[in-house]
Amino acid sequence: MFPTKKYERIRTEVLIETFIRKQLRLKAHTVTRVEETDECMLVYIDRLGGRLLRCGVCHRRCREVHDVREEREWRDLSMRKLPLKLRYRPRRVECPRCGVRVEDFPGAEPWARVTTALSNAVAVLARELSWQGTAREYGLNWKSVATIVKRAVQYGLKHRRRPPVHWIGMDEVSRRKGQVYLTVVYDLERRVLLWVGDDRTEEAVRPFFTQEMGKRRCQTLRVVCLDMWATYAKLVREYAVNAQLLFDRFHIVKHLHEAIDAARRELWRQLVSREKVEVKGTRWLLLKNPWNLTSDQKERLSTLVRWNSPLVRAWYLKESFQLFWGYKQPWRAKQHLLKWMNSAMRSRLEPFKKFVGMLRSHLDGILAWTQTRLSNGAVEGMNNKIKSISHRSFGFRSAENFIAAIYHCCARLPLPVEA
Ligand SMILES: [Zn+2]
Repeated sequence: MFPTKKYERIRTEVLIETFIRKQLRLKAHTVTRVEETDECMLVYIDRLGGRLLRCGVCHRRCREVHDVREEREWRDLSMRKLPLKLRYRPRRVECPRCGVRVEDFPGAEPWARVTTALSNAVAVLARELSWQGTAREYGLNWKSVATIVKRAVQYGLKHRRRPPVHWIGMDEVSRRKGQVYLTVVYDLERRVLLWVGDDRTEEAVRPFFTQEMGKRRCQTLRVVCLDMWATYAKLVREYAVNAQLLFDRFHIVKHLHEAIDAARRELWRQLVSREKVEVKGTRWLLLKNPWNLTSDQKERLSTLVRWNSPLVRAWYLKESFQLFWGYKQPWRAKQHLLKWMNSAMRSRLEPFKKFVGMLRSHLDGILAWTQTRLSNGAVEGMNNKIKSISHRSFGFRSAENFIAAIYHCCARLPLPVEA
């Protein structure tokens, strides 16, 4: 009735090999034996009888085996604490289409040192952790993780879906504390990173339109959202002929805040020390929304109002500018903005005059807000993610690695399919 002890032992051994064979989804190959050492499990794989092998390039079945190569080893995922290592002598097949090629070995690329399953697991973790942290977790070195991520990105860029793009946002991110810049392009509709360029110059960004998008895909672009001070507008006008330029709301407000700050500093320089006490610490008072002020802060603000200081004029200008975003009808929004620009010009505040000059030369792209209601705020989270990527990794001294990490974390690229 009950199986003998010997029978049970044999059955268990068969099971481990079968288990691994099934896990690796081997069809034309089989596991011949499994050896356990102190630091790993060695899995020996061989060809299964005369089953047909596939070409590594076109994946067609091939009748003829050309030769048998030297034994190679791939690291696989761990079984509990023990890493699996696969050993196999890859065949070269005679493919009717490609000629003599290395066979398609299931579960691993012939040139790689790790299986697809392990490299995918590493790649997934590298989206969350730094490359150093990922390497530590899998007992690899930093370079191997870098290689795996870069391969994954390469694969992902080649195999990702490319639906038509309608709204894009272009922005710059700094690398190394404002010394070097990268350009990032987002699909605002799907909230996904489309492209990263090494620098923010015209030459560096042009490939986005000529290579990444191409003529046909550029024609579907409807809105391009960007910063007024960037050099991108010229390229957009050149390549995305159907697109409406839209200057990003958050960037405009940022420039407005800079104008207030500059006005405050100007005033500070003119004040005598007794007056400085009153003005000190008003920076946040002026930038805050009025409904968020405490009664003490309101009191200080009203003191400033009585003075009719330049600061107060700046504060009123800021508040009334913000009304622009609420208008639904384009002509009303335009009327408001033109009026505002007039009063800003009469404010005797130099930084505001400069700001008006900037608005004037970008007017169309600012008024476009009323109809499009788009901003790069939709992808603000992704910009923060890029910042955190650059903070957590001190290994990104090269732009190449940083760009790969950005694609890897923000572009939702597909990973290679595991056999
Ligand atoms: Zn082939």
